[in-house]
Amino acid sequence: MDGLPSSYVPARIVRRQDHTESLATFWLRPERRIGFRPGQYVTLALPGEDGRWIKRPYSVLSAPHEDVLELFVECVDGGALTPCLFEQHEGDDVGVRGRAAGAFARDNERTHHVMACTVTGIAPFLSMLRDARQRGETGHRYLVLYGASHPDDLGPYASELAALAREADVTGVATVSRPWEAEGWTGETGRVEDVLRKHLDARGWDPREAAGYGCGNPAMVQNVLGVLRRAGFSADHLHEEAYFPDAGETTPAEAPPAAPPARRQGVPMTPPGGVVLKTAPRPPGA
Ligand SMILES: Cc1cc2nc3c(=O)[nH]c(=O)nc-3n(C[C@H](O)[C@H](O)[C@H](O)COP(=O)(O)OP(=O)(O)OC[C@H]3O[C@@H](n4cnc5c(N)ncnc54)[C@H](O)[C@@H]3O)c2cc1C
Repeated sequence: MDGLPSSYVPARIVRRQDHTESLATFWLRPERRIGFRPGQYVTLALPGEDGRWIKRPYSVLSAPHEDVLELFVECVDGGALTPCLFEQHEGDDVGVRGRAAGAFARDNERTHHVMACTVTGIAPFLSMLRDARQRGETGHRYLVLYGASHPDDLGPYASELAALAREADVTGVATVSRPWEAEGWTGETGRVEDVLRKHLDARGWDPREAAGYGCGNPAMVQNVLGVLRRAGFSADHLHEEAYFPDAGETTPAEAPPAAPPARRQGVPMTPPGGVVLKTAPRPPGA
């Protein structure tokens, strides 16, 4: 990678999995190992058309014990970096800064963790959960709310959450905000911030033992933190990682259109409890 800034190292894309046209997971093997704490991000660099390097942060989804960096990335229409990244294939190299960064981490002063995220915002939470599982840790409880417009935007990670929930003290709730476009969806419906309170109340946790986290869409993050504050969570134990600046718009509640559009096919069933076990690729042209 000619001209790669000196603080960056080449990283080989050892695997790529596309979940939809605009969502993919990239597994990277940097030329030298990059240490990180669960919740931190790495910065990717790719050359732009004008010869300057475009750099953007991405939360690491894998846990520190894994030998590759797993990144779950959404391709942003008109974005500077992601359309270039989505042109890269297995065997190609990207630049990655040699040092991970970020203060988003599990709050170890608390034992109960309420984690809310949209789409790629699941990354830091899965890193924390994989890490806790690998260390065989006990004594912590997690409620993870994972939202997207459509089930296929949850990638394979709602299934992973469901698997973790079967063996650890994790409750995973996947929710879709456009269920009228998801035939067969029997999981939770609505935006993360709209269903959070119901699931929180069902746990009955003492807010003095709990920390809250929001990651992903900035409007969702603010709404979630507001719900948690009103539920008695201390501001010192609310943590946020917004992925892009808030455009200043309020996100209107999603409502089904008067005449439902063509339904998406092939969306899998969910078990009772609202955790998705499996997602299906978006049908072509959808
Ligand atoms: C700490 C941190 C961790 C991050 N982790 C991830 C991650 O794990 N996966 C991931 O996909 N992204 C993540 N992001 C976002 C990522 O850094 C880029 O902002 C994003 O990929 C867009 O880059 P771009 O160069 O293609 O678009 P840009 O040229 O930077 O942005 C173009 C426009 O799109 C807006 N925008 C950026 N992202 C989105 C989006 N997702 N939806 C709607 N509008 C958007 C921008 O505000 C801007 O107006 C993270 C951001 C931060 C700050």
